[in-house]
Amino acid sequence: MTQKRWSPSSWRGMPALHIPDDYPDVQALADAETELKGYPPLVFAGEAQKLKQRLGEVAMGKAFLLQGGDCAESFKEFHPDNLRDMFRVKMQMAVVLTYGAGQPVVKVGRIAGQFGKPRSSPVEVRDGITLPSYRGDNINGMEFSPESRVPDPNRLIKAYGQSASTLNLLRAFSMGGYANLRNIHQWNLGFVEGSETNEKYKVMAEKISDAMDFMDACGVTPDTTPQMAQTDYYTSHEGLLLGYEEAMTRIDSTSGRWYDTSAHMLWIGNRTRQLDHAHVEFFRGIDNPIAMKVGEGLEPDELMQLLDVLNPHNEAGRITLIARYGHDKVAKGLPSLARAVKREGRHVVWSCDPMHGNTIKTGTGYKTRPFDNILSEVKGFMQVLHSENCWPGGVHFEMTGQNVTECVGGSAQVVREEDLSSRYHTHCDPRLNATQALELAFQIAEELKS
Ligand code: PEP
Ligand code: MN
Repeated sequence: MTQKRWSPSSWRGMPALHIPDDYPDVQALADAETELKGYPPLVFAGEAQKLKQRLGEVAMGKAFLLQGGDCAESFKEFHPDNLRDMFRVKMQMAVVLTYGAGQPVVKVGRIAGQFGKPRSSPVEVRDGITLPSYRGDNINGMEFSPESRVPDPNRLIKAYGQSASTLNLLRAFSMGGYANLRNIHQWNLGFVEGSETNEKYKVMAEKISDAMDFMDACGVTPDTTPQMAQTDYYTSHEGLLLGYEEAMTRIDSTSGRWYDTSAHMLWIGNRTRQLDHAHVEFFRGIDNPIAMKVGEGLEPDELMQLLDVLNPHNEAGRITLIARYGHDKVAKGLPSLARAVKREGRHVVWSCDPMHGNTIKTGTGYKTRPFDNILSEVKGFMQVLHSENCWPGGVHFEMTGQNVTECVGGSAQVVREEDLSSRYHTHCDPRLNATQALELAFQIAEELKS
């Protein structure tokens, strides 16, 4: 494939799926993008490079990637308590994986920019009324009214502002004391009190505290060892709205390379990874670590061509492949890709998104995902990669720190189909609640150990 010169805007004019083309005022959109170009970067190139290095370790089988967060962030759910609860359940999961599986864990949130959504249908029909689908709070509104569903460029500015203050709080949590391992007991969430998962967590936290007391006596303390006092927490989102991503893309003055400064890591969704389309074009030119969803229908040849374009120097840590097949399809779809990647010596992180292939609709009309199917896809993913001699390097979850009822199942605190309506808050896809997410972390640690 001959490639023209890349620039942050070279994707324009190429076919682009899932980017709205119905802004009523295109000048207002262009003005918003120009304004964003003058705003400060949200992340620095050096941080993105550091994440790439850490992912390079994951690609080599020396660490594990934990990526997760909301399907879609929203203006309505934006609250410091929600951010804190998400952060702490991620810390709990990371510690479970580090302790249980003996692996350093690279923590990446689907957060501080995860707004725009590809939708399976451009329209939504309710009671005989047809309106454009909700596309994420940075594009239009969730409310089912004609006014709310019109794309509004001011939403891009608002989403930037929310991302900036979210990131500010995350930086404070990770560097300012909250992430200190001495707080391991405080990360526990009140509403899982008494559950089996909670008890398991308490036992583990006690053992870690004892080990820390011992280390303390030896002179190794959070004061002497920054890794115990703080953590690295990275941000990521689907790089869907290329106008926004272009506006946030800047040259790094030290390396002379382009970085998309809207997040440390960005991914290409399963619906926008066409070789000759706009998203692949944009992603090939940014130097961030990137990810790509892979699912049913992607053949090894096409994957190799995509890797040629997106990671021409075969740099470890540059690309994460997020497999999202469904529990009943992963054993059929994934082996040929894993084999081809291995045969060709490509360095990739293999991660598992057990959410998007396992969505079902209940009789009462709720979108849900059965916990058992989620777990079964993770296990299937690991089996495939182990048998192809590859490292199952990570997981990618849609989850929240709140006690929602969106995914059915879980053994610590079972969510039944009839419970879904009680706390179903997601703006898009159903998320694991905090207990379910923690339970999964324990199960994964077991799998990794075995
Ligand atoms: C998502 O991650 O929210 C998503 C839309 O996933 P996929 O691209 O795998 O469908
Ligand atoms: Mn989703």
